[in-house]
Amino acid sequence: MIHTLQNLVRSTDARMAQFYLSLRQERDGLLIFLFHCIFRDEAEINRNLLDPLDRITVDHLRKLIEYYLEHGYTFVGPDHLLHGLPRKGKFAMLTFDDGYYNNTLALPLLEQYKVPAIFFIATNYILQQKSYWWDALWRVRKAQGASDKLINRDTLSYKDRRNSEIEQSLIERFGADVLKPHGDIDRPMNADELRDFANQPYVYLGNHTADHAILTNYAQREVRREVENCQRVLTEITSQTPTAIAYCNGNFNKDVIATCRAAGLKLGFTIRPRKNVLPLTADNGDLMRLNRFVPHTESPIAQQCRTYRSDIQFYSPLRAAYLKLARGQNA
Ligand SMILES: [Zn+2]
Repeated sequence: MIHTLQNLVRSTDARMAQFYLSLRQERDGLLIFLFHCIFRDEAEINRNLLDPLDRITVDHLRKLIEYYLEHGYTFVGPDHLLHGLPRKGKFAMLTFDDGYYNNTLALPLLEQYKVPAIFFIATNYILQQKSYWWDALWRVRKAQGASDKLINRDTLSYKDRRNSEIEQSLIERFGADVLKPHGDIDRPMNADELRDFANQPYVYLGNHTADHAILTNYAQREVRREVENCQRVLTEITSQTPTAIAYCNGNFNKDVIATCRAAGLKLGFTIRPRKNVLPLTADNGDLMRLNRFVPHTESPIAQQCRTYRSDIQFYSPLRAAYLKLARGQNA
């Protein structure tokens, strides 16, 4: 039901965008995109070793980059944002959450098109080399024959818990090996790989907490520990200290923002699917609440790219209303 409604709103936005952009130019702004795991191809997705989430392949990523370059957008990195973006211009930004080894598949594209990207890392996954819990859940439930819908419901039911509680529950349900990765396709980068990765041109790293903590489920002192631990470990591994955080599951509130600021972070990334309005300046509070679109494969990438440019979109406000009413979440 929700999925059908979501697709209906998205297709309405797509039609509106086609009409709107045929009449006028879009307003200037910054479009930020969120990716998670990146697959080589469909065959890799169909191995069902990890939750395919948005089912994005290298080819989808290439198409998105090419689309925005062809439409006059400039790709920016966190350094650009820290210096502020002017009132005029069309900007785009690539972000990747979690720290999957498969994100290295994006490197040739970043170099070929000379576009920066920021990769948000949950450091305990790097240090402990365990599967991301949602992938572990997906893999086991898929092998049991559960439908995607049932698995998604199972995943959602965990999102009001702390990470340690989630992992403990999965171990109790499915055994001690449940968090063991199956290979390069689903594992996090290790510390040596992350160090090399951070030294690549066009690569920036960001904070995604130590435990992939959905911070609104944690007490204030635990929030501080999650954020500071991640900052410390990333600095130790890469000798670079992040300036940006992506809130896990997009959950944040004003206390979370205050704690992140106190830890030295200056940019905060949500998953509110909206265009960011210009100008963006260092003293602008919006820098800790940056909006991000999540490209997917339920409609053609070019159609989504066009829709994100449009200034009339219903999906974002309806999604925010749903999250607030159904889950009491500010998004
Ligand atoms: Zn994440």
